[in-house]
This record gives sequence, C-alpha cells and structure tokens, in this order.
Amino acid sequence: MTLAGPTEARRGEELGKEMHNFMVELYPICRSITGEGVRETIRAIRKRIPLEMHEVPSGTKVFDWTVPLEWNVIDAYVMNREKERVIDFKAHNLHLMSYSAPVRKKMFLAELSPHLFTLPDHPEWIPYRTSYYKENWGFCLRHADLERLIDDEYEVVIDSSLRPGSLTYGEFYLPGEISDEILVSCHVCHPSLCNDNLSGITVAVKLAETVATRPRRYSYRFLFIPGTIGSITWLAQNEQIVSRIKHGLVLTGVGDAGNITYKKSRRGNAEIDRAMAHVLRHSGESHTVIDFFPYGYDERQYCSPGFDLPVGCFMRAPHGQYPEYHSSADDLDFVKTDSLAQSYTRCLRVFEVLEGNRTYMNQNPKCEPQLGRRGLYRAVAGQQEKQWTELALFWVLNGSDGHHTLLDIAERADLPFGKIQSAAEVLLEVGLLKECRISGST
Ligand code: ZN
Repeated sequence: MTLAGPTEARRGEELGKEMHNFMVELYPICRSITGEGVRETIRAIRKRIPLEMHEVPSGTKVFDWTVPLEWNVIDAYVMNREKERVIDFKAHNLHLMSYSAPVRKKMFLAELSPHLFTLPDHPEWIPYRTSYYKENWGFCLRHADLERLIDDEYEVVIDSSLRPGSLTYGEFYLPGEISDEILVSCHVCHPSLCNDNLSGITVAVKLAETVATRPRRYSYRFLFIPGTIGSITWLAQNEQIVSRIKHGLVLTGVGDAGNITYKKSRRGNAEIDRAMAHVLRHSGESHTVIDFFPYGYDERQYCSPGFDLPVGCFMRAPHGQYPEYHSSADDLDFVKTDSLAQSYTRCLRVFEVLEGNRTYMNQNPKCEPQLGRRGLYRAVAGQQEKQWTELALFWVLNGSDGHHTLLDIAERADLPFGKIQSAAEVLLEVGLLKECRISGST
C-alpha cells in the first residue's frame, strides 16, 4: 500500500492536513512532564478518541523514581526599567525553562546571565531547556536578543508553582478478539515543539481513530505520556499486564522532511522489527533501519532488561540529528503534511501485517495440489500481476507447514506481505489451507 495512485495521493494529502490542523490546535499549549498543559492536551485528544485520563499523585514511588511535584505557570518575564518585557513567556512558551521554580526579584544582568540560554549558532531560534529533577530557573531567548540586553537592573518574575499534585497521562484501550496487545506510545511533555512531540501525538491519534473502526484480532493500547517518567510510571503501575504486549511502537519525530528511520527493539528480531523492515523494504522509499541503543525516547524503558518488550521506535530524522531539534525552529512549518501521512500509512500497514500474520497448514502437503481443477488460476486471472500471484500461491502452499507464518513466507519469497496474504485467503476458501491456532491467547 503506497500513496502512489491519484485517489490515494489525495487521501494522503487530506490526512496530512487533518493531522497538521490538530497540531495547530495543540501548539500553543505549555506542556511539561506534569501540570495543566498535559491535562489540556489530553482533553483535546479526548475530543477525538475516548481515552481515559489518569492521575498519579506526586510522591508515588515508581521503581527507582518518584513522581515529581506538579508544575504550573501563570506568567514569566524579564522587564527593563522602561517596563518593557525583554523576555516574555506569553510571547513564546519556550522562553521559560520548563519546571522553573518561582522567582520575583530585581537583579543586574551579571546575576541574571547564568540563567539565560541561547543558541549562538542559530541566533534567531529560541532553545528548549528543562530542569526537571534539579530545582532551578531560567529563560531561553534568541541570541540576537541577548546581545541587545544592556547592563542594567531587571525585574525578574516567574509566577510558577511546584506543589504536590499529580502526573497526568492518557490511555486509550481498544479490545480485540484476543488479549494480546499492540502498544503505541508517544510523549506529551514538550511545549510548543512540533516534530519532537506533536507529530507523534497526531499520528497516534489518527491511527487510534482508524483502528477503532476496523475488525481486529489484537487489542490495542495507545499511551500519551510524559517522556521517561511517564513510561516508568505506566510500567510500574501495570506490571501485571505487561506480558500481554506482543508488539509495540514508540512514535516520535514523524513529521519532518527526512526519510523514515526505524530503530529496532532490544530483541532485534521481534515480529514488529521484521514486520516494519518488511513494510519499509517493499514501500520502495528510502529508509533506514537501525539497531537498538539505550538512548532516545521511551523505548529505553520498554526495552530495559527487566521488561525487554518487543517495542521499536518509529521516527524520521533521528533526534538530535537535525539542527531544529529542541528549538523554536521545530515549528508548524518544519512538519510536512505528506510526511505525517506517510508515517501514518506505514504504521497502519505494519498493523495490517501483524493482524494478518498467521500460521497455516497445507491440507494437501504431498506434492502440489492441482490448482486448475479448483479454479484458482481463474480466480486470479483478472489481476494484472498474475505471475506474481500464482507464484505467491505456490509459496504459501510450500511454506505452510504449520511452523512458518505468512511473514516468514513473504520474507523467504521476497514478495510483499499483501500478495502472500491474498494467496492464503484464496487457498483457505478452497480448503487447501487450515489455520493453526496459537494456544494461550484468549
Ligand atoms: Zn525532546
């Protein structure tokens, strides 16, 4: 499934625009790892998918971590003697270092300077800085604006609060025929940043909307969580059901103009890793598949050795490898509608492969069955790629020994999964195949 045909291209364009519009709605919200910004974001998502909003109290022990105090901010600025706001949180969320402690003090530039952060190589961009687990405060600004600050006294105000409250996350669970799950996880803790944060959210929401309308074998769980502490908290509070997760994807940075990058799970050859590599290889698009490494997003927690879940990370340009990363240049223009649509389509295709990846037994395993007598050639004669389909029939018959899945067969045949799957459907209809039920999953 590619977005190549004119109808599909148009549909892709519409999908991309729809996802981008949702990003426009979420962009102004000041998110952090806790606080009202996360709640507002979860409420906006809830208008599209009926997810549950969970609140975990500050101070809750989650493995080696503790749920932090809740951070909220009303206003923050640096004002000069002329009562002009030379740095103003209300002009851009990124101006305030996330989790800044409250401050209300007059100070000279020398005292203020250690709390100011800029990007000298990109003087027109505002950097994104946080200080979650060490109390501090700070402002981020354009380097060009810093250079304009004169050595004088300034009024510094951060009207924020760090109080016992809770960590908020959203969870959307869609039951399927079996309790085995496909997990989709994305972070919701970055303020006005588009690729690193909002792109993952919008693609996850669109996937959830689509999956909800389809018949499905697997159950699906979509998590909208603050990075690191959110996945640690979810894993700590749901340890008893973690074994149901059979496949998972962390979605991040899925809207930039770069090619798709897939980072494999720690296991390296999990079904999700193979399904993703297969879909990308047959997409005909440039892409990269990289091995797991213990740095990046929440795959670090899902793939920690105590869990070792089959969860990979789906992204485009890897984080830190594009200059706009963690700066105000990661804005609404940086994310491309066609990239969003393509990311969505590829993930959905992977779900289709996982859903259809069954194991069959050839009911006529001794020599080839006589296909012509069963009208099989005629059944596929109208299709343009007849040769391929016939070849797929032979591959499915030969590979269906009760030990190999359709993905195993597709890989060995080097044919797209869809061809192998349709061949299996045809063979099932005429009774030449029987599905081998996997025990233990209900
Ligand atoms: Zn980030």
